[in-house]
Amino acid sequence: MIVVMRRGAEKAEIEHMAQRVESLGLKAHVIVGEERTVIAAIGDKREEMKESLESGPGVAAVMPILAPYKVASREVKPESTQVVVRDLKVGAGSLGVIAGPCSVESEEQLITTARAVKKAGATALRGGAFKPRTSPYAFQGMKEEGLKLLAAAREETGLAIVTEVMSPEDVELVAKYADVLQIGARNMQNYRLLEACGRVDRAVLLKRGPAATIDELLLAAEYVLNEGNQNVMLCERGIRTFEAHTRFTLPLATVPYLHQKTHLPVVIDPSHGTGHAYLVEDMCAASVAVGADGLIIEVHPKPEEAMSDGYQSLNLEQFAHTMAKCRKVADALGIEM
Ligand code: PEP
Ligand code: MN
Repeated sequence: MIVVMRRGAEKAEIEHMAQRVESLGLKAHVIVGEERTVIAAIGDKREEMKESLESGPGVAAVMPILAPYKVASREVKPESTQVVVRDLKVGAGSLGVIAGPCSVESEEQLITTARAVKKAGATALRGGAFKPRTSPYAFQGMKEEGLKLLAAAREETGLAIVTEVMSPEDVELVAKYADVLQIGARNMQNYRLLEACGRVDRAVLLKRGPAATIDELLLAAEYVLNEGNQNVMLCERGIRTFEAHTRFTLPLATVPYLHQKTHLPVVIDPSHGTGHAYLVEDMCAASVAVGADGLIIEVHPKPEEAMSDGYQSLNLEQFAHTMAKCRKVADALGIEM
């Protein structure tokens, strides 16, 4: 249910109603909007609860939330959420660009990339230190050494750091160095990991599982939101279909669809979404055109020498070219980039 407070309801009334929701055994999420405040009451509801809440001070209406996801839904929060981390601004009219290598490999590789992507206009640096690899024999990442290199790159460039966390036990360590915790496609339904990321003061980039429906993605986001962390970005990174021309199939209709259903910003990953560097630029431009709130792009100074995902990584020049093209589309549509 959502308890919709009257326009101009007082702080004391809102606090009172949040407590009343909790006293009914439900979890209260207070969402302060520009127009009015609503309290999402999450949990096992009974019919008599609605009546009891309706009579509360400052309450305009009590309504059921129709979507299976609750805190993520636009029914609860009509205004778009903007996630802001340092200079990275994602959502509500701002397009944030996250760029960098698939894996952190060395100081030289990372800092060269960081300087170049910053110069071209990115506001966040990506780079995996803990890598989820299909084969246990493939490079698994530099772990804490990689996190330290990311933090050093932030120190020099000011770029926000986005990096993956693979297990609940690593959340504290990764959060010590990162600004944004990436939950990878393979872990989208790792519920203990989602909850652990919901309890730390770091933004979350939640990637769609290659075989997950959009409702499943939103319900996964709900696990993070329910723990109190509202800084969640959803990421479409392609799904598995019968089509083999691309590594995954990148459905861009996800963007306007999610904008209808949720207030959370939507980031597109054209690198994993296509699996081919030569397709990335056009899919970036298309993502901007369709209203994406962010892009996450794999960039490497020497893609042919990359320890992971080199075939889908842009080199520094290609990245600058891609940014220039995206900027033209963003300008035409009045999007801040
Ligand atoms: C990555 O970003 O390098 C990655 C492993 O992504 P995904 O979880 O989408 O496969
Ligand atoms: Mn990758």
